[in-house]
Amino acid sequence: MLELVNMFVNARPLCWRRALKFDLHCHSTASDGILSPAALVSRAKIHGVTHLALTDHDTVAGIAEAERAAATEGVTIIPGVEMSTQWCGIGIHILGLNVDIGNKAFAESLAYQRDARVARAEEIGKRLEKAGVPGAWQGAVALAGSEAAGRPHFAQYLVSEGYVKSINAAFKQYLGAGKLGDVKQVWLSLEEVVGAITGCGGEAVIAHPLKYKMTLSKLRQLVLAFSQCGGGAIEVISGAQTDSQTKSMVNLAARFSLLASCGSDFHAPGQGWQELGRYSELPQSCSPIWDMWPSLAAGYARE
Ligand code: MN
Ligand code: MN
Ligand code: MN
Repeated sequence: MLELVNMFVNARPLCWRRALKFDLHCHSTASDGILSPAALVSRAKIHGVTHLALTDHDTVAGIAEAERAAATEGVTIIPGVEMSTQWCGIGIHILGLNVDIGNKAFAESLAYQRDARVARAEEIGKRLEKAGVPGAWQGAVALAGSEAAGRPHFAQYLVSEGYVKSINAAFKQYLGAGKLGDVKQVWLSLEEVVGAITGCGGEAVIAHPLKYKMTLSKLRQLVLAFSQCGGGAIEVISGAQTDSQTKSMVNLAARFSLLASCGSDFHAPGQGWQELGRYSELPQSCSPIWDMWPSLAAGYARE
């Protein structure tokens, strides 16, 4: 009998822990995701997610729809965003979690990022036009659909119009490093991005640290620079990764006293390595970012 009681007592915290499932990184049709915000929330619900952060690229346009759907599905939405920046010439993504989407300065920072994207595409289009490729900008925009037009869309256009035989050839002749379509993207700086997020009360998080293919020492430099800008969290888990990669990210977070986040980076159904809700378990030694949101994560307990 005592054994039975103990089993029950020991099982309780585990149940609570399992009862809450955080996926703090995903995309909807508001940026380059395939599902509408409402469909995304329904899919998250099916996969047991209780707390979902919608983190579209440089926009919070999908948050209101996600929140409406979440209210009927019984899911909690954490308003989020994924912002692009550059650090030491490397493209870096920073998540903003629990951001205030009504904050004016924050909205202006996002508008700057979107304008920068559009201006770059227009510049690539102009240069191609001069080089004898008319209509490239319109073509790339049409191919991009709801996404912002980027070099891959120009490459597709060049192939479809017969200027080159392959995407590779398009980059080699027109779009690759040092070619006429190699227009540098000018994002807000790391400091400005972190400032925009923390300035409206959000948490800044280094997204998918393993995807930058940096050495560990370079990654440490990035984390140091990020912390010095006021950033306080890192994705310890981002989609499918090995145990040793996870361990290395846990150590990195501990070394710089960063909070730990986790997410799928879901973009589209059928990609199992980034299914919603699949990467919600943080190692016990981590300090989860949701400890910063006691009211959102009420009921959560750690063993
Ligand atoms: Mn994306
Ligand atoms: Mn990203
Ligand atoms: Mn992403």
